[in-house]
Amino acid sequence: MNPPSILAQPVQYLKGIGERRANILKKFGISTVHDLLFYVPRRYLDRTSVVTIAQLRQAYFRPASLEEESLNVKKDYTVVGDIRSFRVMGMGKKARLVLILGDATGTMQCVWFGGVNYWKTRFAIGEVLAVSGQPTAFGGNLQFVHPDIDKIAEKSLLEEKDEPIDWTKTLNTGGLVPLYPSGKELERVGLDSSGFRRVIGSAIRQYVNRIDESLPGSLLEQQHLIPLRAALQSVHFPQAESDLSESLRRLKYDEFFYFQIKLALKRHGVKTDTHGISFNIQSKLARQLVDSLPFKLTQAQIRVIKEITSDMESPKPMNRLLQGDVGSGKTIVALISMLIAVENGYQAVFMAPTEILAEQHYKTIASLLQGIDVNVRLLVGAQRSKLRRDILDDVGRGTAQIVVGTHALFEKGVEFANLGYVVIDEQHRFGVLQRQSLQKKGRNPDVLVMTATPIPRTLSLTLYGDLDVSIINELPKGRKPIKTILHYEEEKQSVFTFVREQIRQRRQAYFVYPLIEESEKVDLKAATVHFEELQTNVFPDLRLGLLHGRLSSEEKDGVMRRFKNRELDILVATTVIEVGIDVPNASIMVIENAERFGLSQLHQLRGRVGRGSEQSYCILLSKKWIAVKANRLKGDPVQWQESLDEQRLAERRLATMVQTNDGFKIAEVDLQLRGPGDFFGTRQSGMPELKVADILADAQLLDEARRDAFAIIEHDPQLKLSEHQPIKEHLLSLHRDAFALMRVA
Ligand code: ADP
Ligand code: MG
Repeated sequence: MNPPSILAQPVQYLKGIGERRANILKKFGISTVHDLLFYVPRRYLDRTSVVTIAQLRQAYFRPASLEEESLNVKKDYTVVGDIRSFRVMGMGKKARLVLILGDATGTMQCVWFGGVNYWKTRFAIGEVLAVSGQPTAFGGNLQFVHPDIDKIAEKSLLEEKDEPIDWTKTLNTGGLVPLYPSGKELERVGLDSSGFRRVIGSAIRQYVNRIDESLPGSLLEQQHLIPLRAALQSVHFPQAESDLSESLRRLKYDEFFYFQIKLALKRHGVKTDTHGISFNIQSKLARQLVDSLPFKLTQAQIRVIKEITSDMESPKPMNRLLQGDVGSGKTIVALISMLIAVENGYQAVFMAPTEILAEQHYKTIASLLQGIDVNVRLLVGAQRSKLRRDILDDVGRGTAQIVVGTHALFEKGVEFANLGYVVIDEQHRFGVLQRQSLQKKGRNPDVLVMTATPIPRTLSLTLYGDLDVSIINELPKGRKPIKTILHYEEEKQSVFTFVREQIRQRRQAYFVYPLIEESEKVDLKAATVHFEELQTNVFPDLRLGLLHGRLSSEEKDGVMRRFKNRELDILVATTVIEVGIDVPNASIMVIENAERFGLSQLHQLRGRVGRGSEQSYCILLSKKWIAVKANRLKGDPVQWQESLDEQRLAERRLATMVQTNDGFKIAEVDLQLRGPGDFFGTRQSGMPELKVADILADAQLLDEARRDAFAIIEHDPQLKLSEHQPIKEHLLSLHRDAFALMRVA
């Protein structure tokens, strides 16, 4: 056996780290030496990116003399200087810390308001700082207010022998100084930029020559990649800017490659594992359901049902992702396949992300199954213990044939007699781990994962490489595309008139308000005020209902039922409506302060209308300056890629809504505007935690890594070939979970 890899060792034992820092680092995803060395600088300072204090003074007081761009693009300037003095001025709320920074050309102030006691402890006279921000002036003094700061050199450390590089000198001789991402929590334990430079520097010096190469030589050659050691060394101690891109490329490839190797192993394991259930797919129950529907299934639904049932028939466990826009009819598809499982004597589970959604699905399913002899139960967290015990009993004995629920389904104590089929709605809100834990409640049940937030085509293969994908790309017939119109708030009166006209024609409308405050109380008040305003001043003769998150589920139900039964003309709601009701007669969706909603959320809300045969409308109201610009934006939204400020982002979201109804396109724009981290939500989502690479920006490299990784596993699934030993070793020391997959395969 080889000695364990250096990269797998916990950071705690590195020089200069210790237990306290290790605990904080862990929170930031850094547990091993590998994690630490892949924590790459967020940017590098060089001479060209730094201005002198004299230059900054000129830029601020005589901007016209600089390039034109400085007039409308507020750019950040960086100054490097040493601390001449610092002290707290003013008292109480006005307390501020004023620091005087000097370089060869003069001095300036850096000012922090509030938190002075913290800031006071952060500095020492003589330390060298890189300070970035936008200059202002106060009483003739040039200032940075709350600048970003990076310590370039701490006084005490400059004198320590251990510090091999004087970074100020480095800068003066045209070298690069790495600046690391940090933050208050890390700074508190001394891990600001200079702290990271110190610990990473010492780790590199000590270990770099003992780091094992993680990729096979043939791959390095074929992909023109530099060795891991060289890449790590140069990313943290760059000699020249020109070296950086190939070093970063190597590390990014590394991250992508191991992410994909794991997917490839998983997929391979699933494919060769033959211990799943082979269902008989001739089902009377399913036939009975289809015959009882008041509509015909679409071609897309039929195709997808075939894909699913052929998986069910095969003895291999199914792992399938069903994508379809809001309203494309996924629920019925899921239900048909669940009935097949039930008829085979198995239990089927339908899992939703929230209680409201679970209740809604439960009711939909129960009403679709009227007259069909199947026992459906609902299991959510909020049930009273007596009822809960009764349900658990039913589930444990196997008499509950279909169980609809939330996370409560995979808690301890929920035992299924014979779970054979699992449907999960809204995949992106569930983690991969949760998916697996539910799977374990049965013996390799078939799994169908559904999502209404279409995952951009460019990504689904990559992210769900272990799932097969089915797509419903057709809406039920007779539906007219929803018309989306963007108005500004001053035009509200005409919107009201329009709504009134529609209601006169027996239609119903939604009015939705965003959650503005974090606190539900305040929002409740806002929604109530809006509601009363609409009811008394705008539509005194119409019947309005109010729906918000503070209502009990019976109250919510009551309001929804009245709306559904046409006892209400208008439903005023906060965002709870998003996962709310299916009312085909509601044909108008008015969204106020639309600029505050996310793109997917807007699309989901819009999906609440357009469910009947009437023409439906989605009316977005926003601030005038946003609406005017958004209405003028032309071109393909997918191409709008620049990084944008909040207002521009809002304009783009609204313009996208006006221009397209296509959920896939919307998802793609959303992903671009938000970035993959936000788009997929939490760490639990199955998104890899990448430290160096960026799924969007480095999509091409990801694609190559994927192809390479899958080819290797296809050809040598057990990694037996000698040239693949580096991969095996690397998995063994850093990705044990994946290693286990390989053994199963
Ligand atoms: P999704 O879950 O994909 O958003 P649903 O399954 O909730 O969509 O279906 C939306 C509505 O369309 C439901 O009222 C459903 O009964 C109806 N529906 C489903 N399939 C069809 C079809 N083929 N023709 C007409 N209506 C359909
Ligand atoms: Mg649905």
